[in-house]
Amino acid sequence: MSSSTVRVRFAPSPTGYLHVGGVRTALFNWLYARKTGGKFILRIEDTDIQRNKEEATQIIINGLKWCGLHWDEGPDIGGPCAPYFQSQRMGHYKVVGDALEKAGLAYWAKKDSAGGLPEWKIEKLKKQGKWDEEKAQAAADPNPALYLKVDLNGRSEVVFEDAVKGTIAKPAATYQEEDGVTGKDFVIMRGNGMPVYNFACVIDDVDMRISHVIRGDDHVENTFRQIFIYEALAKLPEGALPNAPKIPVFAHLPMIFNEEGKKISKRRDPVAITLYQACGLLPEAMINFEALLGWSPGNEHEVMPMEEIIREFSFDRIKSASAQFTLNRKLPPPVAAGGATTDPEVEAQIVEWLSECLKGSKLEWINGEYMRKLDAAELVKRVEPFLLKKGYDVSHHSPAWLKNVLQMEQERSKTLKQLAENVALFFNAPTKLEPKAVDKVLKKNDGIAVLQEMRGVLAGVEEWAGPALDNAVKHFAESKGKKLGDVAQPLRVALSGTTVSPPIHDTLHLLGQAECLRRIDFALTQVC
Ligand code: GLU
Repeated sequence: MSSSTVRVRFAPSPTGYLHVGGVRTALFNWLYARKTGGKFILRIEDTDIQRNKEEATQIIINGLKWCGLHWDEGPDIGGPCAPYFQSQRMGHYKVVGDALEKAGLAYWAKKDSAGGLPEWKIEKLKKQGKWDEEKAQAAADPNPALYLKVDLNGRSEVVFEDAVKGTIAKPAATYQEEDGVTGKDFVIMRGNGMPVYNFACVIDDVDMRISHVIRGDDHVENTFRQIFIYEALAKLPEGALPNAPKIPVFAHLPMIFNEEGKKISKRRDPVAITLYQACGLLPEAMINFEALLGWSPGNEHEVMPMEEIIREFSFDRIKSASAQFTLNRKLPPPVAAGGATTDPEVEAQIVEWLSECLKGSKLEWINGEYMRKLDAAELVKRVEPFLLKKGYDVSHHSPAWLKNVLQMEQERSKTLKQLAENVALFFNAPTKLEPKAVDKVLKKNDGIAVLQEMRGVLAGVEEWAGPALDNAVKHFAESKGKKLGDVAQPLRVALSGTTVSPPIHDTLHLLGQAECLRRIDFALTQVC
């Protein structure tokens, strides 16, 4: 393993779903690895998670695979730094903790910092951002915890260079006790022997020779603590760790805000990637959209093939402030829309709501652009699951028929789900006619009479094909001195139950003669 190789990682906790923010982090890491010829590693940070780890990990794996973000080393495929589950590395954290203690860089202690504070005081400290949850937990723990000795080494500031945000500094006083001299030591292993996130993360990043840590900027605060951990590890005798601890390059990505200017939240916002999959977005469009969450190629391009994104990707075009994820919400979500739900009915409600929110959004627009570019075979492959979900039997249609039906609606449909909905009339005969369509079309301009006469014309058509049907409709309109629309619309209402369908001759052709006549007869029974 050459020390100059770029090695980046995505290190999610298996919470039960893959968040759109997590996908953005994974993507930026992946892009950097692909751009530099480096390695992209998947590491599962599951030390705090008690239940359903396997299922939750599988959800992350499936989500990343759906997005096309494949990793070079990871829990399912192994690699030179295996295991890639933190829960399987516990023994190692303990060994490193012991080494730090032995070297006088850490100590086991039971501190009583939060003890005895009244509830209101705790609330106040929390509001002021001065509450130290870790300290409080350690205080509540009956066993001593392992504290890292914070060594400020005469610094007045703790500083690091962020590849996105530039210099980030904090006054040393932040990490000093009130006496202004003693370091504010912090817990690295809890009384139960569990490493805290910062400790496990640094040890793994060292072991896995991570060269660049690319993650959300909610981790900036952690980075300072992690720097103290790196510095302590560097003081261990040679050989205590498999690799020399080297502080990686940090690149903190801007927070993602929703249309209300609030940080996207798993409770308020639809953040699970599976929801977007269920709304019929194409992974390549989703990824293209996610790439633009905080990054831009420096030109006007928005729809970009992956090769272009990889080629153009660089840290200096990542915005440091914030990224915008805007949906077109007209209604509040039916239920808490964010994370994963295990109830399929609830999920279906959220998907319907999200599909409405996507209408007119940039994400939907990008998806539409990708939809239009799909060739026929790919289109069929991608839409098929959505057709099956709607209960349409595709098996008794020929591949050519299916291809024609789907291609006819390809232009108008911006998602796979919309496409499946837009071709409904080819799978299901209307069971009723829209009252508005009846009033506006059939009950006006001799609509019913036109339909009755066209039934006769269509029954006599011998060559049931697009051009012949087009001629038949046009010829009939001309012979009656009618506009084309006055003939096509009544037919459309009879065939689809609504006023919307693809061009009428194509609709007639693909439905077939017998089915068209059956539908016209049914429509006539509804209005005569
Ligand atoms: N498990 C952490 C998270 O999901 C990883 C943070 C990091 O990338 O260091 O936020």
